[in-house]
Amino acid sequence: MFHKILIANRGEIACRVMRTARKLGIRTVAVYSDADRHSLHVAMADEAIHIGAAPSRESYLCGDKILAAAKKTGAQAIHPGYGFLSENAAFARACADAGVVFIGPPVGAIEAMGSKSAAKTIMEKAGVPLVPGYHGEDQSPALIKQHADAMGYPVLLKAAAGGGGKGMRQVWSAEEFTGALDAAKREAMNAFGDDTMLVEKYLTQPRHVEIQVFCDNHGNGVYLFERDCSVQRRHQKVIEEAPAPGMDPAVREAMGDAALKAAHAIHYSGAGTVEFLLDADGSFYFMEMNTRLQVEHPVTEMITHQDLVEWQLRVAADESLPLTQDQLRIDGHSFEARIYAEDPDNDFLPVTGMLNYLQTPEQSQYVRVETGVRQGDEVSVYYDPMIAKLVVWGRDRDSALRRLQLALTEYRIGGMTTNLAFLYNLISTEPFRAAQLDTGFIEKHQSLIF
Ligand code: ADP
Repeated sequence: MFHKILIANRGEIACRVMRTARKLGIRTVAVYSDADRHSLHVAMADEAIHIGAAPSRESYLCGDKILAAAKKTGAQAIHPGYGFLSENAAFARACADAGVVFIGPPVGAIEAMGSKSAAKTIMEKAGVPLVPGYHGEDQSPALIKQHADAMGYPVLLKAAAGGGGKGMRQVWSAEEFTGALDAAKREAMNAFGDDTMLVEKYLTQPRHVEIQVFCDNHGNGVYLFERDCSVQRRHQKVIEEAPAPGMDPAVREAMGDAALKAAHAIHYSGAGTVEFLLDADGSFYFMEMNTRLQVEHPVTEMITHQDLVEWQLRVAADESLPLTQDQLRIDGHSFEARIYAEDPDNDFLPVTGMLNYLQTPEQSQYVRVETGVRQGDEVSVYYDPMIAKLVVWGRDRDSALRRLQLALTEYRIGGMTTNLAFLYNLISTEPFRAAQLDTGFIEKHQSLIF
């Protein structure tokens, strides 16, 4: 096992990784920007290296500065967390060239899944079911439209390089198509410097169900079941849970097998998530694979009683997977709620400011608060305004839900507007309690939530 690692991230995920490293007796190196000089992740680390100004481009996205920090401190491996450099193939390659282990999949796997179009081509060959659509290299607008017309509307345009819901547009009729394609291309070019588009049949009431996979460097692979992330706003996750309510065990197994097929097709290693859309009739379709630890990984940890960061570290150190498929079980139910500094009454615009008062619910084996901030800290304009992830476990969905309700009422944040009340209202609706989930949940039940 490594004796020292560097965490190339900030906030709650940097703290989360350090907690496991400490448990395993591994020393930790934090990196930080001007804005994070006094942040929790810096205080928690054994050593900390300043890497630049507050904007991410000048600090957390500077692979060369981060590698130099690893060299200087003698860190043997780098954990990238999520976001920032976590899916950057060039950075993973630079780590390898510098003789530092990148705690993530091989460069080739990151590259293979880096484009949604190329990923779909690979998955099609591997026999993984896809959302019907066109993901070819020929980008002539007339050809893309021809495919959309043939599929029938509505369709969804997506940027091949996309992420975070950017460059995505629903199109409801042939008349709207050309305008929508132009707009989506412009947005994609701005956000990703690449306007390659794909088009998919727009499923109107699917669930977002994703499979957690894990592979090691010795040819072993397992799946740690599914997470249901259907409750979304603008295609971004708000509440996640595991297992997916009402999941047919046969569908679970088929999705798990498909996800492992996907992982093996790209010689995967480490933690990965294969995202699917699930239809009411049990059909499921590959959307994309994320080649990193996900924000919502704790709900999987809660129902499997495993530490996924520990698994990542062990795999990166060339150990075999800790468990086989037969040894993995689902126990109980878990929810995660993402607590944000944002204003639900003002179109969920991010808010910034000082966390004047902070009272977290009492933590136990059933209630986890994953956060990177303390009372008195600032939520700045520079980074994602997530304050914390509240994660709960219960013997079954109802008891987990009651625990989440209680924990949300115990959470007190003073000094800025948050989505706490919105989350509480959402999970307290009858349709949520009854697990009537699909990706249109929030829109459909607005009148109950607001
Ligand atoms: P991003 O990488 O930008 O997050 P994804 O491809 O992961 O984009 O899609 C994000 C969300 O958009 C999904 O969770 C789902 O709610 C919705 N979505 C994506 N593709 C489709 C589709 N073909 N039909 C309906 N909804 C979709």
